[in-house]
Amino acid sequence: MRIQQNLKRIQEALPEGITLVAVSKYHPSAAIREAYATGQRVFGESRVQELMQKREELADLTDIEWHFIGHLQRNKVKYIAPFVSLIHSVDSIELLREIDRQGARCGRVIPCLLELHVAAETTKAGLTPEECLSLLEAGEWRNLTHVQLCGMMTMATFTNDSEQIRREFHTAYTCFQTARHRYFADDPQFAIRSWGMSDDHLLAIQEGSTHVRIGTDIFGEREY
Ligand SMILES: *Cc1c(COP(=O)(O)O)cnc(C)c1O
Repeated sequence: MRIQQNLKRIQEALPEGITLVAVSKYHPSAAIREAYATGQRVFGESRVQELMQKREELADLTDIEWHFIGHLQRNKVKYIAPFVSLIHSVDSIELLREIDRQGARCGRVIPCLLELHVAAETTKAGLTPEECLSLLEAGEWRNLTHVQLCGMMTMATFTNDSEQIRREFHTAYTCFQTARHRYFADDPQFAIRSWGMSDDHLLAIQEGSTHVRIGTDIFGEREY
């Protein structure tokens, strides 16, 4: 019941047009079923093995959309390529190439976001805005016919300083706009900005987010 109430409260506070990705990592399939029962369809997972297990346990929920949001190793792309709806965490051309290769093998064009590193912590993954724009400038991605670049994802620094968080999201938005203008002027599919989690999603929306990835506020604290 609690999950359903949480979802309702969060959905009601979201402006129209914002997609809620329910981050179900470390929570059991039963919790996903409960969210699904309220109409939630988009779920985010960050580990391939966990995602594969849940997908099997929830095979009867055929219209679930699985988003991959965690660090993705190249040798594991093949497991999720047949079904994943969106990969949020592309942080190198090598990974993008492998997603393309696996997309070709299963006859799919796989939607992907480029992950930006804008946070102060060096432990966070992703391309700096400069690296991201260089990757796009290099142009190899244009030859990859089984991936579709749909936008960018980022995570802000873990801090209480909301001005810092705002600045970081703003940096990501500026990079997105630059890329859209330079490389995707003819491609309306390049439109997704995935930023904002439980604690900072309303701020993220003010800074141009279209997809918020919320775990704790829906499912409660994770057990590790
Ligand atoms: C875990 C995770 C989230 C959700 O974080 P919460 O603070 O629990 O809402 C969002 N994005 C990514 C990439 C994550 O790994």
